[in-house]
Amino acid sequence: MKIIAANWKMNKTREDAHRFFGELAEKMKLQHRGQISNDKNVIICVPFTAIGIAREYADELGFTVGAQNFHPAKNGAYTGEISAEMLCEIGTRAVLVGHSERRTLFGETDDFVAQKVTGALTNGLTPILCVGEKDGEKLEAVLSKQLKSYQKGAIIAYEPVWAIGTGKVATIAQIEQAHALIKKLVAESNAGGLNPPEPPAVLYGGSVNEKNAAEILAAKNVDGVLVGGASLDADKFMTIITCV
Ligand code: PEP
Repeated sequence: MKIIAANWKMNKTREDAHRFFGELAEKMKLQHRGQISNDKNVIICVPFTAIGIAREYADELGFTVGAQNFHPAKNGAYTGEISAEMLCEIGTRAVLVGHSERRTLFGETDDFVAQKVTGALTNGLTPILCVGEKDGEKLEAVLSKQLKSYQKGAIIAYEPVWAIGTGKVATIAQIEQAHALIKKLVAESNAGGLNPPEPPAVLYGGSVNEKNAAEILAAKNVDGVLVGGASLDADKFMTIITCV
């Protein structure tokens, strides 16, 4: 089953979100009898304020509601933060963890990312663990370090930082090589569990759009995509989810 995940980042008011899902519902009705087919898992990670709106459409359309952040502590003196339990209570089932924007702009360390993976899994949220190298960094060294946060049950998103929001897409060969390496590193660490080992689902993210999604999704070891900018447009996103 292919996974198509969307990251809206800090975009769309509740009114915008309503319009987006209304448009998606219309297009689905016209082309696909109203439901995203059940041989794929579509996860839409919206801002906290739009989670309620997304929930209103999620069952009808058949997608999973995701969030973009939370604090790993159960509760306490963390002004401005939201816990995994609070996200679950309002119908969120997945959450982005370790996105490069959180690592770079908000100083999230590998240790904190690991706490978030644990916090998400403990509360029944599927973490989408984002990993990837910056321009000029050594791929294997970065992945080995960042994948220490992985635990069985998480989805991994390989997102080369130089490809996020830049229009520069990794080549199919680069994607296949990185995904194979991620699966090998996870298998070697035994993080997938021993009996039997469970290979993680690995998504590619970084300037995926309606034109390149089909080719990327057909690549070896690619279990899905994580889409930022192109997921904001109902037409483009519809093309991406229906190209597999
Ligand atoms: C992202 O935000 O995870 C992302 C991949 O963004 P974009 O698709 O815009 O590069």
